[in-house]
Amino acid sequence: MPVKADRPDSRSFDLVVAGAGPSGLMAALQAAQAGLSVAVLEHNSLPARKFAMLRRGQGSLSRSDISHEHLRGRHERFASDALEAFDLAALRRFFRSLEVELIEDEGRWLPASKSGVDAAVALVVAAEHAGAKIHCDTNILRVNAKPDGFDVQTTRGDYHARHLVLALGGPHFPQLGATESGFRFARHLGLAVEPPRPALVGLRTREIWPFRLPGLWMECRARLMQEGRLLREAEGLVLFTAGALVGPAIAALSRDVDEEACARGEVSLRLNFYPELGLEDVAQWLFRTLGQHTRMLAPDALDRMLPRRLAVELCRAADINPRWRVNRLSESQRKRLEGLLTDTGLTVTESLGWRAAEGSRGGVNVREVNPRTFESRSIAGLHVVGEMLDVDAPSAEVNMHFALASGWCAGTALAAKAPRKRKGAKAPRR
Ligand SMILES: Cc1cc2nc3c(=O)[nH]c(=O)nc-3n(C[C@H](O)[C@H](O)[C@H](O)COP(=O)(O)OP(=O)(O)OC[C@H]3O[C@@H](n4cnc5c(N)ncnc54)[C@H](O)[C@@H]3O)c2cc1C
Repeated sequence: MPVKADRPDSRSFDLVVAGAGPSGLMAALQAAQAGLSVAVLEHNSLPARKFAMLRRGQGSLSRSDISHEHLRGRHERFASDALEAFDLAALRRFFRSLEVELIEDEGRWLPASKSGVDAAVALVVAAEHAGAKIHCDTNILRVNAKPDGFDVQTTRGDYHARHLVLALGGPHFPQLGATESGFRFARHLGLAVEPPRPALVGLRTREIWPFRLPGLWMECRARLMQEGRLLREAEGLVLFTAGALVGPAIAALSRDVDEEACARGEVSLRLNFYPELGLEDVAQWLFRTLGQHTRMLAPDALDRMLPRRLAVELCRAADINPRWRVNRLSESQRKRLEGLLTDTGLTVTESLGWRAAEGSRGGVNVREVNPRTFESRSIAGLHVVGEMLDVDAPSAEVNMHFALASGWCAGTALAAKAPRKRKGAKAPRR
């Protein structure tokens, strides 16, 4: 990444953006292009570290069916204005204008280079080119509202600005610099904050057999249940690792797993290994498979239906010794096996927590901000964007698109307030 920490030359700005993630950089870019003087404060020594991660080079920035319906929180329609104002077409145009082409891959949109670094660097360079000063290694310690704007205390001195954008993200993945400080500042300013919890994260189960299958993956329908009630359902890849179940389907369910939820009663995860088939079809397939291979070991016969390693574990779960031949299975054992193929139940004990989470739920209550400008309803000049807000999605790229869209909306609203365009400033990009 090209940006180096530099010392602030002036501490008074039209706008201070707290946090150099995608939401903050986008707001900074739009405001700087309109001629506002902008400082972006970041405590990491490089900006946009999470953005550059993009699931270690394979992640996407959005999806074809992006919609506010994917974003969850306390107010279902909250994200609709931002995602309409800065929709997928606008996102693609925006990155094309930065010479980053986005390509589609099975409904997901990612940089053609398949690297998050390119998109992150392009955004940083564009913000700097527009005149925003990015001050890295600058840890924000405190934020105060004043009659004429905001005072921001940092480890590299104090800043003052008429406008402040809080873009400090959620506390997930602290290895990349994430903190809870944004929520502390928001509370200090009088905003309501819903307690943050990890989301988009792997789950541990009481049963240990899934952890004997590291590296195995299955396309599943996964359901999270509590006392017979469906909490959430998702379809997609489930990856077995040595300590947890991970993957998109698990991530999508994980926001509902926390200590409080587990204390309310047993949370169970139910896996259907044949989401595209009816129960009857699976039963008949098993019946035929076992009927045709009566002299084979049970896992070898089942190898035709699912990976052998998983077949061994499902046999054990059905009280079948994996060394038994098919012709030795009782009717009840066959029935148990049939049930496990479409409804394997596991007891969830905990999530992998903040250090493994790719998202958070909770954050600044969305009723605190205007959904078109992301300006606080109670404190003029204050904007809150990105993952600091109490919205979360079943997949990381929806959070990312929302972070960029909310930053774009806030920056565009601030640009509209710019008294007059300064010489050389460019029109806001979209
Ligand atoms: C491991 C991982 C993989 C991911 N993969 C993908 C993916 O494949 N595709 C995708 O679209 N999204 C992915 N995401 C999600 C994506 O990174 C986020 O949606 C996005 O970064 C949120 O942007 P933001 O601007 O709201 O917050 P952030 O990007 O978190 O930015 C907040 C910034 O504030 C800084 N900060 C925090 N506290 C302070 C402080 N006190 N002082 C100064 N600075 C501070 C942080 O260092 C950070 O740079 C992934 C996230 C993680 C953690």
